[in-house]
Amino acid sequence: MSKKDYYEILGVEKTASEAEIKKAYRRLAMQYHPDKNKNDKVAEEKFKEASEAYEVLSDSEKRNKYDQYGHAGLEGAFGSGGFTWDNFTHASDFSDIFSSWGGIFDSLFGGSFSGGRRYRNSNRGEDLQISLSLTLEDIAKGVDKKIKINVKDVCERCHGSGSQDGKTQTCQQCHGSGQVMQTTRSLFGQMQTVVTCPSCHGEGTIIKSKCSECNGEGRINKTKTINVHIPAGVAEGQYIRLRGQGNRGVRGGESGDILVMIHEKEHPVFERKEADLICEYPISFSQAALGVELEVPTLSGKVKMKIPAGTQSGKLFRLKSQGLPHVNSSYRGDLYIRVVVVTPTGLNGEEKQLLEQLGTFDDGRKLKPGRNFFTKFKEFFA
Ligand SMILES: [Zn+2]
Ligand SMILES: [Zn+2]
Repeated sequence: MSKKDYYEILGVEKTASEAEIKKAYRRLAMQYHPDKNKNDKVAEEKFKEASEAYEVLSDSEKRNKYDQYGHAGLEGAFGSGGFTWDNFTHASDFSDIFSSWGGIFDSLFGGSFSGGRRYRNSNRGEDLQISLSLTLEDIAKGVDKKIKINVKDVCERCHGSGSQDGKTQTCQQCHGSGQVMQTTRSLFGQMQTVVTCPSCHGEGTIIKSKCSECNGEGRINKTKTINVHIPAGVAEGQYIRLRGQGNRGVRGGESGDILVMIHEKEHPVFERKEADLICEYPISFSQAALGVELEVPTLSGKVKMKIPAGTQSGKLFRLKSQGLPHVNSSYRGDLYIRVVVVTPTGLNGEEKQLLEQLGTFDDGRKLKPGRNFFTKFKEFFA
């Protein structure tokens, strides 16, 4: 186990948020990834160190223990041997962290990284990303959507085997194991490493004649319609993973996933703040001064709301539980109506007269916040 300070390793403050920690880790992981630093022991060590730090700091329970007791608090957390890749619980995060790298993610736990474990079948199909635009009304209720998508699906001609006549042969180079020993010379003498067999690419078998339909891949392009259930309360930037619905793997390999990225459409009336909604509602000066009953919008229709006499512009009125639900919880946010007093423009003669008349009564004594304002004004210039 590394004895260095985990915050120092990631280069973040002790108060760093979850997102800051993930961002810092992502940066280091990209910099020191073994595929970018072939045969560089220092980079590999740094990559492992950063991963260990991330494993601890991204887990609130482990982070608490570490904050209180330092490394001693984590004694036994990784088993007797300290941190290894088997303790690393974020393997699935890598698909997000490294998604922009394409194939690099798959090789992370593959042969190129000594000590790593094979995380996924090398023939696994690619993950696919689709973006789904939702209105706040959709988000409030949850919604089922049908989406058309192009995927690589099983080739029916060869049933996914990739072989024209259904026949395969055991690979002669690796005798079916998919791996071969490689001997390299280094400063420390000869080194033997196990690598993926270059003849069969780890499959252990070789196809004599390729299927004419899929050119030996065992998969072809198809359009399919998928059903996605979007739970109520989702937010911009979240995604739903549909396991096994992405591209099918080459020659019978495991299928990838579909990531449905949530995109929130701007609402004409409501602004969202997590589970709460805010709506700006213009009222006239006389409505604000005298009080009024308004019909205000909510996501489930209009409701009546009383505005008391003497309401100041900008005041927020709360409609409890009229906001958005939380995902997987019965809690609902609130709706805030912010009343904004609109100053009239384009007055006709009569209206002008009335306001001027009103002005003669108004010498500032009735303007409570005005007094505060003038006190502050004086202090500012004092
Ligand atoms: Zn085929
Ligand atoms: Zn082979």
